[in-house]
Amino acid sequence: MAVVDEEALAPPQYMHSTIAAFPATAELARRCAVPLGVSIQPLAESPDVPELPVVDHTALGGVVRCSECRAYINPFVDFLDGGRRWQCNICGALMPVKSNYFSPTDASGRRADVAQRPELSSGSVEYIATKEYIVRAPQPPTFVFVIDVSMQAVASGMLAVAAAAIKASLDDLPGEDRAQVGFLCFDSAIHFHRFRPGCSHPDVLTMPDLDDPFKPAPDDLVVNIADNRAAVEAFLDALPSMHAEARSADSCLGSALEAGLRIMQHVGGKLLAFSAALPTVGKGRLRPREAPQMLGSPSEYKLLSPDDDPKAQGLYYRQQAAEFSRQQISVDTFFFSPGYADVASIAAVSRFTSGQAYHYPAFTAAADGARFHADLVQDLTRTTGFEAVMRVRCSRGVRVLNFYGNFFIRGQDLLAMPNITSDTAFNIELEHASEPIAPGSKVTIQGALLYTNAKGERRITVHTLAIPVATRPLDVLQAADAEAVANMISKRGLDTVLRTGLAQGRDAIHSQVAAIVRAHHTASGAQAGGPGGSGAGPAMSLPEGLQLLPLYGLGLQKTTLFRGGNDVKSDERAALVYRALGMPVVCSTPLAYPRMFALHSLKPGEAEPIDTEAEDARAAAEGDAYEPPPTAGFSELRLPPVVGLSAASMDRAGVYLLEDGAEAFVWVGDSAPAALLTELFGVASFTGLDTSNAAMPVIGTELNGKVHALLEALADTSPMLPRVRVVVQGSGTAVEARFQARLVEDQQATLGGLASYREYLAQLNREAATGSAAAAGKHPMQLQPPAQVAPPPTGGFTRQ
Ligand SMILES: [Zn+2]
Repeated sequence: MAVVDEEALAPPQYMHSTIAAFPATAELARRCAVPLGVSIQPLAESPDVPELPVVDHTALGGVVRCSECRAYINPFVDFLDGGRRWQCNICGALMPVKSNYFSPTDASGRRADVAQRPELSSGSVEYIATKEYIVRAPQPPTFVFVIDVSMQAVASGMLAVAAAAIKASLDDLPGEDRAQVGFLCFDSAIHFHRFRPGCSHPDVLTMPDLDDPFKPAPDDLVVNIADNRAAVEAFLDALPSMHAEARSADSCLGSALEAGLRIMQHVGGKLLAFSAALPTVGKGRLRPREAPQMLGSPSEYKLLSPDDDPKAQGLYYRQQAAEFSRQQISVDTFFFSPGYADVASIAAVSRFTSGQAYHYPAFTAAADGARFHADLVQDLTRTTGFEAVMRVRCSRGVRVLNFYGNFFIRGQDLLAMPNITSDTAFNIELEHASEPIAPGSKVTIQGALLYTNAKGERRITVHTLAIPVATRPLDVLQAADAEAVANMISKRGLDTVLRTGLAQGRDAIHSQVAAIVRAHHTASGAQAGGPGGSGAGPAMSLPEGLQLLPLYGLGLQKTTLFRGGNDVKSDERAALVYRALGMPVVCSTPLAYPRMFALHSLKPGEAEPIDTEAEDARAAAEGDAYEPPPTAGFSELRLPPVVGLSAASMDRAGVYLLEDGAEAFVWVGDSAPAALLTELFGVASFTGLDTSNAAMPVIGTELNGKVHALLEALADTSPMLPRVRVVVQGSGTAVEARFQARLVEDQQATLGGLASYREYLAQLNREAATGSAAAAGKHPMQLQPPAQVAPPPTGGFTRQ
């Protein structure tokens, strides 16, 4: 296989490939059954990656690119003729090296100036875009808030929390003094708020005409924040009381979104919509289409896509998304409804504008206020780019088969993302093209994101991976990455769910995992001259990088996304579907296999920031033998050992935290001592424990503080905080059932029922041994318990 300078590859935090050895032919890819592709998070922020080096080619007269295919120069191109020409590794064209970019090469073809040229030594760089990349002058970052002020919005406390969180974010909005804001409130009518110079409060203009809310001209509705700071703050302070007497239960969300579009379409930016009820009047009004008998039925999946009934206006939001995208506006939607909100129809406006959907079912400020506040501040203040487009190029012999994520595809392969944030991620699935890949070569994948940063500078972030080509199945399978493969399989599974149903989605996940296990069984048998190998069964003899794939495959089928049962409301699932479509590997892994920690046995130093000096000293002393402790988050919080996800590994006298990124549970054993309850919850008995959907209380004890620190650190790589619920063992509540469904290694009798991990491995073994899933079903169950049920998860976690 060709050798690749691994140091130069784009780090997996930005671009994570399912394989590190690319099958040479389509036939070999089919035999290996591993999905080919990458998960890309172009502006990822992680404690493990340094800031991108900035490259300025302005003095060269423009960024150095291939003039044939427009690829960007990168560490994996070849320099020829002593450095006078370079060969594009995407299309193969030979390019002259301009005299102002020339550097002599050594005998191995390496340029003398590599150390001074980040674009030749690092697979991830950011170029300063020269003027040909600028369509219009960078616009000031603009934020328009479209806020529900109906009775439900006020009574739940949503309005007050939203106003407080917006106010708390004003200092840190991207663009600082250049940032602009606009406010538009709605119930059964639309209320514009116009800030005028010298006035301490904005005028209110109410537009009852929902079909054409702009008969008067909409000027001055978006204002510079620095010039109007006092009036904006006074407005936000007064907003909750302005509507304290709200009597309207109606919502004209669809018309309000359109009004929001009109007041910001000249500048683009981000629109944030807060919805407390199903839209009932105006454009895009919806019907309560979730009949209880649909949940758990084969037609349930239809509730996860926009309502396409000709009598409803469910497609309105998806159609509006095209217009928002054209005007360079991303829409984030926040749902708080006590009843059905039709997240699937409305959040389509977020999906196709690279926005995000947040769902707080039956919101109350007491239970969900702190989480919503934190999510909104994070949404507003994180790294955000504007007017973004992304293009992925692949070398000859390979082409893009599918894109997964939240964006609009413009033309054939240009991903339009009006906003891109540090949380934005998507997937590219690859296949072999008709022309062959050159033997002994490398497959190059390059993603280039053009965007405007918060300072108003046009930038191009370029990530490049080069993957050596392999000709033997085992070389491909041994170079596969279980976390990235599971991530890709989950996207494919979601695609199946949205088209045909949940059971079909689970089947799709299972058959892909089974096909990989079978492929490895066949390949290792063929290579070793006999079937099997280790004697532990095909699923357990997987190469190290794929060891956890069966566990992730089973775990995915048991997530709230894919599992059966009739207890998951379609709004919750639809919000999770939209989120999961844009999940990077770092988020999809805990969703498939949640993290569980024993809170009753934390050791000193655990759930505390690591002592970096002591670790540095240890690293220096131990050299290659040094193993860094598992940590989470920017605070580098030391993680306790992970507990296996099975009731058998839990202690009735203990308390555990289980977290999957979307939800978290604090599970209290029925024999947990009073002292432990007091330390954690501030109450000495179970009767005092509030388990009514409440969040984990803040009581100021050391252990309670550690739990909050853990939750925060785990959420650092996630766009939102998980919903936290307290569960008491044996309480028989719906929440306890949900917790049990997350014990991935156990058999689940309820909630759609699925095999235990041990049974699942046995099933995979049978299918691999018999060669087909259909044949396996006819065989009696042959349990083949491996010595160790769950192998240790990789990726920074150490198990007990
Ligand atoms: Zn080229």
